[in-house]
Amino acid sequence: MKIAICPGSFDPVTYGHLNIIERSAALVDKLIVAVFRNPNKHSMFTMEERLDMLKETTKHLPNVEVDAFDGLLNEYAEAKNCHLLVRGLRAFSDFEYEFQRALLLKKVNPKLETAFFMTDGQYSFLSSTGVRELACFGGNVSELVPPYVQHVIEAKFKSDKSEA
Ligand code: ADP
Repeated sequence: MKIAICPGSFDPVTYGHLNIIERSAALVDKLIVAVFRNPNKHSMFTMEERLDMLKETTKHLPNVEVDAFDGLLNEYAEAKNCHLLVRGLRAFSDFEYEFQRALLLKKVNPKLETAFFMTDGQYSFLSSTGVRELACFGGNVSELVPPYVQHVIEAKFKSDKSEA
């Protein structure tokens, strides 16, 4: 069985992520979308919220599984018996970081390949950071994230405001 892992923070999942998830899931038997629990990075959404948004927005894809992981990605991939990682590339500026990361992973596990998907042109400007910034100032994110994610974002900001 051909298994691939699409790792990331997904804080929150956007239409750009979903484009990569849909296209890569069509090429493998199983795609694991793995949300990284990064102790060094503050996330706007909890792990539970990020998993929930991903599960809801990928439920139309029967071969996609959503999971959380911490620690080393190569060890997680080994535990899942997976030798293929999927990452997206938006702009040239993504390239250097992704290139170094892929080479480092290959160094620790030469059998682990990373495949890159060029974003669809319409999503090349789209990042979770941008969505978070827009959301912070009450901007409209309806063209950037699915309706369910928009709803979660709005609910979060409403509850943050009422707590302030
Ligand atoms: P990380 O925190 O590891 O950078 P992200 O959650 O930001 O992870 O993104 C996960 C993956 O999705 C990365 O490979 C990233 O390049 C890709 N990605 C994010 N936004 C887009 C987009 N708009 N188009 C294509 N790929 C994207």
